[in-house]
Amino acid sequence: MKNWKEKFDNFRTDLEFLESIVEGKARFFIFKCPSGFIHKRRSSAFYKNPWIADLNSVIDKESYVLNRLKSVHKDKYTYDRFRYTGYQDKSTITCRLHGDFEQMVSSHLIGNGCKKCLTDDNKVRNVIRAKEKFILRQDTS
Ligand SMILES: [Zn+2]
Repeated sequence: MKNWKEKFDNFRTDLEFLESIVEGKARFFIFKCPSGFIHKRRSSAFYKNPWIADLNSVIDKESYVLNRLKSVHKDKYTYDRFRYTGYQDKSTITCRLHGDFEQMVSSHLIGNGCKKCLTDDNKVRNVIRAKEKFILRQDTS
């Protein structure tokens, strides 16, 4: 008989093994990630390891994604109207400055955010650039 816990622990030391179960023909690992979420993943799929695989296997996807979003964007947005329906689906995000906007979850997760904030940032950058050019022109004349 295989020791699933040992097999699991050898592969991922950052996750806490809870149990291994069989459903139909498939074996699943039940484990806890460092954020405290419970995951259930088919043992054959377990060894493919990017973050998306952790998302696929977590039971409470919405809370898991929210937790992840808060670590990516800190305190910039609120998620009262956010509903997780899929990685490629759009959901409502609330910018503290500009209010609600819609964005793909996958896009928001990699750091994209409020377009109005981006425009504001660009405006500030343009003003700085214009001032720099002005100073430069004065220096050379
Ligand atoms: Zn904004």
